[in-house]
Amino acid sequence: ASAPRRALLLENIHPDAVSGLEKNGYAVETVAGALDEDELIARLGGVELLGIRSKTNVTDAVLAAAPDLLAVGAFCIGTNQIDVASASTRGVAVFNAPFSNTRSVVELVIAEIIALTRRLVDKNTGMHAGVWDKSAEGSHEVRGRRLGIIGYGNIGSQLSVLAENLGMSVFFYDTADKLALGNARRCSSMEELLATVDIVTLHVDGRPGNSGMFGEAEFARMRPGSLFLNLSRGFVVDHQALRQHIESGHLAGAAVDVFPNEPKKRGDEFVSELRGLPNVIITPHIGGSTEEAQQDIGQFVAGKLHDFVSTGNTALSVNLPPVSLTSQNGVHRLTHLHRNTPGVLATINSVLADHQVNIEGQLLGTRGDLGYVITDIGSQYTSDVIGQLRDLPTTVRLRLLS
Ligand code: NAD
Repeated sequence: ASAPRRALLLENIHPDAVSGLEKNGYAVETVAGALDEDELIARLGGVELLGIRSKTNVTDAVLAAAPDLLAVGAFCIGTNQIDVASASTRGVAVFNAPFSNTRSVVELVIAEIIALTRRLVDKNTGMHAGVWDKSAEGSHEVRGRRLGIIGYGNIGSQLSVLAENLGMSVFFYDTADKLALGNARRCSSMEELLATVDIVTLHVDGRPGNSGMFGEAEFARMRPGSLFLNLSRGFVVDHQALRQHIESGHLAGAAVDVFPNEPKKRGDEFVSELRGLPNVIITPHIGGSTEEAQQDIGQFVAGKLHDFVSTGNTALSVNLPPVSLTSQNGVHRLTHLHRNTPGVLATINSVLADHQVNIEGQLLGTRGDLGYVITDIGSQYTSDVIGQLRDLPTTVRLRLLS
């Protein structure tokens, strides 16, 4: 029997990732912390799958020194710690967990909407200072309140469903065409939404154009006494403007989980205009930080890595063209990653035809400079065919899967 495929998982990745890969026949080595460049290079010989979180840098030098590596799993959301361009040119697939923690974010938003609407923060602070204040002034039920969701993607649309279940009326604005779920109503502009709702919550993505998209003009358009939440990205909001609208009493409260400058590590001082404001909840970027999200990330990314190794499918890969071809029995599968230039598919297919190899199934996808084609072929093929395909000048990486 051939030796098991090897996987190396760093940074305390969830045990479900380890057991998931082991169940699929991998020999899994784990390391509790991150490794630096030299340590990582020394560990990667013969390793086909590497799993990391945010503290391991997968540099061009690391990738260059790891010819056996097939895929890198970022068991988190961000992939800035990986030289993704280098991975692409070497044919190494990169996967992450883009929506494993979205439910956790939605639940925190719901908790904060209720807390702000009931002025729980101020009541709690008062009680700890010995102040007994039973007044109902400024406290509301969320039932019947109008919630405005800006950015109706994975998080915004889930929030829409749960908020409606609490009896809120949901309005949303998104720059892309989105299906309105339940009774949610689409606004045709952000201005329309801001003039309509009691609570504004941002769930836009981090594209550069969203930098500073919510500032003085947008806060000024919000209805008096309304609430503001941002659990998307810190650089989207002008915090100085938010501070002024809280201090003036125009806004009744806010919850913010993300900041333009976040401390690098535990214990570093948190500096922000939003410290010390009344009815303002500030949290250290914990929207997605739950044990359930970590478990989902472990299962999701491990599943993606195994699927890529065994079927060549690249759906939801961060860097390779997305291609998924349904498997069928009795065929061999070739995956060919190549430079995206005219004629590659025709060349591959003429090499196969020249050798009397029948194509049983085939799918091509491209992404930028790369093309990726999965080809299922009948049982007869020779090492000559494989060699010719591997030697094509456009080939980045060829794999024979079965
Ligand atoms: P997503 O990509 O599924 O959805 C984003 C939506 O925003 C898309 O529908 C997009 O069309 C829309 N959009 C982008 N720019 C817009 C604009 N200027 N106006 C209106 N709509 C706009 O993303 P998601 O998974 O729902 O995540 C949303 C945000 O939450 C992201 O910024 C993500 O980084 C952040 N996030 C934060 C935490 C946390 O811990 N606080 C955890 C997970 C995700």
